[in-house]
Amino acid sequence: MFDYDYPLYRPPSEAKSLIFQVTLGCSFNKCSYCNMYRSKEYSERPWEEIKMEIDLAARHMPGTTRIFLADGDALNLPTDKMIQILDYIRPRFPNLERISCYAMPQNILKKSPEELQKIYAAGLTMFYIGIESGSDTILKKVTKGATGQTIIKSCQKAKDAGYTISCMIILGLGGKTYSENHIEETAKVLNESAPHYVGALTLHLEDGIRDEFLTKFKEPFVPIDDSEALAELELLVSKIEPATQVVFRANHGSNAYPIGGTFPQDKQSMLEKYHISSHILNFAGQLALGDFESNTKLNQLASDQNLKSFCASLVGSK
Ligand code: SF4
Repeated sequence: MFDYDYPLYRPPSEAKSLIFQVTLGCSFNKCSYCNMYRSKEYSERPWEEIKMEIDLAARHMPGTTRIFLADGDALNLPTDKMIQILDYIRPRFPNLERISCYAMPQNILKKSPEELQKIYAAGLTMFYIGIESGSDTILKKVTKGATGQTIIKSCQKAKDAGYTISCMIILGLGGKTYSENHIEETAKVLNESAPHYVGALTLHLEDGIRDEFLTKFKEPFVPIDDSEALAELELLVSKIEPATQVVFRANHGSNAYPIGGTFPQDKQSMLEKYHISSHILNFAGQLALGDFESNTKLNQLASDQNLKSFCASLVGSK
């Protein structure tokens, strides 16, 4: 319907949303793992263009329930312009349930509490925030432009103004060297900021960004493998103890093991699934290496109660 300026990105949970590009690119554009907007100069789209697209969508898709404001950090718009856009959108989509956008911690902190409240009242109610890691060491190495403390402050500020926040973290961002530090510090930041949603994906360096990432890392970067990604997930889940309910998802296509649940009630069952997945991975790895000289390990696996219950639940779910 629109002549979008590609590439165009949105979070997986906004797959069915109507997207308005109110800005192009990312005003920061320096994170060394992110290739999303390197081909674009950051700019604000002119009001007349935005208005025309809202009018067009209102004619063709008046039943729209969800809208996502792109590109990388729409919240960078001046507050008055954001409110102008939201005020124009709202009455034209009577079934609207939610308007959301990506938001950098820096952009949330730049707005005053009153500005955030006004924007919320105008209809933007959800932010997707890329935390990536809670470790200051790693955040510096990937030139995130934020620290664990600024991330916590920005999440708290957004929540205080009423926003629903969904945060992303990246497994493997510190490589093997900083794996433990990455998870320990990320869990601390998640516990203090207690987002409503947390999504975990796994580091994937695209060709266009790999050299920059490795250069900025300033020391040899050794990527983690699938079993180490699973170990990071397991450690992270074991350390998450938020004060409020947190929906956790590790079902992004980049993850080898799609597991999710809601803290605190599903914590134990998620840990059991990780435990079982580790067993299966270990077993598969040993089979691939022809490492079963005796039946001992196979017998150990076969007698594992968690594995038995998991297999029974799989059979039962068919
Ligand atoms: S991760 Fe977000 S803030 Fe960083 S460059 Fe990419 S779009 Fe911009």
